[in-house]
Amino acid sequence: MTDFPLTTYHLLTLGCAKNVADSDGIGGILDESGYASVADARDADVLIVNTCGFLQASRKESLGALRELAAHKRDGQVLIAAGCLISRYGERVQREVPEVDAVIDAGKWLALPRLIQYLQVDENVPDDWLTNAYAGLPLEQLAARSIVEQLPRAPHGPSAYLKIADGCDRPCTFCIIPTIKGAHRSKPADAVIAEARDLVARGVQEIILVAQDTTAYGWDLGMRDALAPLIERICNEVEGLRWLRLMYAYPGHITPRLIETMARLPQVVHYLDVPLQHAHAETLKRMKRPNIGVMHKMLDDLRAAMPDLAIRTTFIVGFPGETDDEFNALLEFLNEQQFDRVGVFEFSREDGTPAAYLENQVAARVKKDRREQAMAVQQKISLAKNRACVGKTLDVLIEGVGDGVSIGRTYRDAPEVDGVVLIQKEIPPGKFARAQITGAMEYDLTAQVSAE
Ligand code: SF4
Repeated sequence: MTDFPLTTYHLLTLGCAKNVADSDGIGGILDESGYASVADARDADVLIVNTCGFLQASRKESLGALRELAAHKRDGQVLIAAGCLISRYGERVQREVPEVDAVIDAGKWLALPRLIQYLQVDENVPDDWLTNAYAGLPLEQLAARSIVEQLPRAPHGPSAYLKIADGCDRPCTFCIIPTIKGAHRSKPADAVIAEARDLVARGVQEIILVAQDTTAYGWDLGMRDALAPLIERICNEVEGLRWLRLMYAYPGHITPRLIETMARLPQVVHYLDVPLQHAHAETLKRMKRPNIGVMHKMLDDLRAAMPDLAIRTTFIVGFPGETDDEFNALLEFLNEQQFDRVGVFEFSREDGTPAAYLENQVAARVKKDRREQAMAVQQKISLAKNRACVGKTLDVLIEGVGDGVSIGRTYRDAPEVDGVVLIQKEIPPGKFARAQITGAMEYDLTAQVSAE
């Protein structure tokens, strides 16, 4: 309980793009409930951390962020731990950080205003506070409602993530997400269109479709191959949208119809994020991932339809049982396929996943060494790909400006994970500039403006 009215909140977001989309929704829900967002945690009555619980490293980061805020908590301030860490570890988080006043699972955002009301009047939030916390909905429906509802959004800048589904039905043996997020649930198409329109009405020019598996869109609604028609509807029904970007595709679900739709519609940028995880048949089998043949065909079909396609992918090194031969196959695949953007992660042994109990766990120093080797190979490829852009004229979405320099992204770059373009001129954020690429670095480009 606090004597001070809780009126302002500070929201710290950790983890992936889907968490960023969720936090936009959290902000929208709290704004609509009369709370005001503040940028500085010291000025807030309510501190909220939207945590990540995917890997041990992200767990550590989330607990660190909670402890940091707890250490500076003032009288009357409340601290809420939210998101995937809670879905995975529940109240154990409060035992690790006793200054946390309450916890809320991922996806139960609609109940947040009710939780804050509780914290306003009662020291101890009752264990069953979630029951009837939102429109009398039982618990199990609350998360479902959070995905089907068109959440009010509070976007920051010209680009926004739009989460079209939550949860995952895939059997990847290294991944804890299905445990944290549950089964795949799609947001109905009308709610997606309404949210996209709302975002564009609030000044967003680029919408990035995200989910754990965007390409499984609609399966739970009895539809197959439903992502392509969804993209078509967004492009036809959301006026003013400049760029539509697709992330988190699953290699086994990329269909000819999706490829044709991406290639045909002008708003769809020729960019695809499709995590592949490995390239050796045996490793992929132990990961329960699509086989290398599926990947080769998919990549060939994509590039045939969109020769300028920029591909982002991620790989795991040091998966249990990974031999030198298996790792070398991955290096060969990198050199053969020449991806534009690659993230390489060391295998993380996550309790509750099948891979955590596999034999032949790889030593930490071997994992580290393999990651460095793979990144070194990719850095050369990324530089060569960037150098091939020099002289080209591309559209650049400006996102930041200062000291005579503008920072933006081309169609080849997703926010936060890919490169940027530096332009020696101040151009207002949210503008598209037609820029000639003048220089290349490993990940970033320099350019000069030919038209705004
Ligand atoms: S598809 Fe992605 S989110 Fe789903 S289980 Fe596999 S790695 Fe996890």
